[in-house]
Amino acid sequence: MNTFQQDLQDAVAYHGHICGGQIIGVRMARMGSKMLGIDSPKDFRGLIVYVECDRCLTDAIGTVTGCKLGRRNLKWLDYGKSAATFVNLETGESIRICSDARHYPPEGVDLIEFYSAIPDEELFRVTRVKVDVQPEDLPGKPLIASVCSECEERVMDGRQVVRDGIVKCKACADGAYYRLADEA
Ligand SMILES: [Zn+2]
Ligand SMILES: [Zn+2]
Repeated sequence: MNTFQQDLQDAVAYHGHICGGQIIGVRMARMGSKMLGIDSPKDFRGLIVYVECDRCLTDAIGTVTGCKLGRRNLKWLDYGKSAATFVNLETGESIRICSDARHYPPEGVDLIEFYSAIPDEELFRVTRVKVDVQPEDLPGKPLIASVCSECEERVMDGRQVVRDGIVKCKACADGAYYRLADEA
């Protein structure tokens, strides 16, 4: 296993700055991996991480674990929480770790010093959880693909919506996050 310093250095290099999120994310990822019996997360294929925000700590969790959105072993849920769940696919064990919002560094303080004074038990809330990882959510080739009957775009991984036997993509079925530029 890398040292904390090595992991933090890698996280900062990838993320672009040192911040509380890098320190918390590195500690969270190291703790989650360790609790799941994974010594070297980057060399272990059976780890999936669910992150609950798209802020600083997400990058640190990615660099420590080697999990990536594009590899399907990093899943993003838009909960707006500084939390992540680490799943060991080989043992079926999962650990959810949420950082305690009471610890917030005052302006201008040395972040490494500030956080190193807070032990894991105080900084984190840790729970053993169960995650039912569906086959179509696992890394590997897409198991299911279909075509939307409206826009005719291809939909992978079972994300299509079927109503009254009609197959649509989520955007056509329920509305998209975008609209055409020439629409009002
Ligand atoms: Zn940051
Ligand atoms: Zn469509």
